[in-house]
Amino acid sequence: MAELDYEGFWKETLIQLRNDLGEEEFSGWFSDLKYLRAGNNSIVVGVPSKFHRDKVISSYQCAIITILKSISGEEINLEHEIIKQGPQKKETQPVKTSTAENPPAEKAPKPKEKRDRHSQLQENFTFENYVIGETNGMAGNAAIAVSRNPGKTYNPLLIFGGVGLGKTHLMQAIGNYVHENSDNKVIYTTSENFLNEFVQAIQDNKPNYFKNKFRYTDVLLIDDIQFFQNKDKIQEELFHTFNALFDSKKQLVFTCDRPVSELKTFSERIISRFGLGLIVDLQFPRYEERCAILKKEAESKNADIPFEVIDLISSNVSSNIRDLKFALNTLIAFTVLMKKPITLEIAQQQLKNIFNAPRQANLSMDKIIRVTAEYFSLTPNDLKGRKRTQNIVFARQLAMYIGKEMTEYSTTEIGQDFGGKDHTTVMYSIQKIKEKLLTDPTLELTIETIIRSIKEFSAKN
Ligand code: ADP
Ligand code: MG
Repeated sequence: MAELDYEGFWKETLIQLRNDLGEEEFSGWFSDLKYLRAGNNSIVVGVPSKFHRDKVISSYQCAIITILKSISGEEINLEHEIIKQGPQKKETQPVKTSTAENPPAEKAPKPKEKRDRHSQLQENFTFENYVIGETNGMAGNAAIAVSRNPGKTYNPLLIFGGVGLGKTHLMQAIGNYVHENSDNKVIYTTSENFLNEFVQAIQDNKPNYFKNKFRYTDVLLIDDIQFFQNKDKIQEELFHTFNALFDSKKQLVFTCDRPVSELKTFSERIISRFGLGLIVDLQFPRYEERCAILKKEAESKNADIPFEVIDLISSNVSSNIRDLKFALNTLIAFTVLMKKPITLEIAQQQLKNIFNAPRQANLSMDKIIRVTAEYFSLTPNDLKGRKRTQNIVFARQLAMYIGKEMTEYSTTEIGQDFGGKDHTTVMYSIQKIKEKLLTDPTLELTIETIIRSIKEFSAKN
């Protein structure tokens, strides 16, 4: 083993990667990697950050190992060590590329030295990686507008939509754009972190630390504000932060997993402030848009995916975009490892379990769907599907109504459990049942019976 030239293999691998990926992508991820030493049947390289390491692993590890094997004929693994860079490197020159009056032209030449990556933002959550179609057009374009002119167009911007539909991606795309194209300060925080920092500041008796941190920024991005439900104290703090930033024309962006009207015990004064800006929603994309997202993802991974495989995934994943990408990436990882081209057959085989796996997130909704379907001698898939036969439509509406009655789930969440339906469909269904209840005296009894069965079923399972 000792005589193997690991460093030579690594250099050769880099040459091949540069060829495969193209200069831009290659230098983004590999110019900062340093060969450190040969390990035990492995090559150890230094990476500048944990984020960088994770990206290399998730996107390139399989390809690298394959190349290493083809060069050396050996199974050589790649290990990563995080090495912090000295301050002398990558000094950012403060090039101001945009001013409020002169937003940068879309294709403005970029300064050669980029600003360092924003530590709170995912590098791949950019507009370039975000497919804008019909269902998310309004949200996507609003986000672009905000990123070009923070604080000046839609303020605040509130993006809502179910799990895995792209809220965080879109919000961070704004952050990444502003960070890269101006000197503006951007803060991204999850609501949970916002709360934790608040609590910590109180414990440490440094309330001003918290205030200063979140009130002196040009763009504040707060993700998943449904987390603030039932939490008065932090809502009050949010309210003050909001006012301080809003009054000085700083941009605020929020995301939420449900419509504002369904936020429980949420301060009215905050809700009314959302109304000052723009509220946009994200829905599960249509078939063509799903195909476009998959194609883009495949391209970014340099994977050659035949259309029938894209079609297979687009047609079978009906939950959210995260699951959509997950199915594709599972397939890419498999085929890279096995060194086989992706065919429809392989895809069907490999994705069978993913397609058939019940969604774990919302077990109680699944029970409601199951029992209601059974009551009408239908299957759960009838209720989750899109068939418009009268009896199916009625059973579906009823199950949605019961879901809303029996659980705390929002209409966005319920919609997702019904095969990725839009929250407005759920709202409409509930309304229909409410109307029927006024005119049909037997319906109440039916509902009571089904609810009793659901409770019995839940107790047993
Ligand atoms: P959410 O915050 O709504 O739960 P995320 O923003 O985390 O969802 O998105 C889930 C995944 O789907 C991410 O990998 C994201 O990049 C991807 N995604 C969502 N919307 C799009 C889109 N329009 N185009 C490309 N990828 C998308
Ligand atoms: Mg999110």
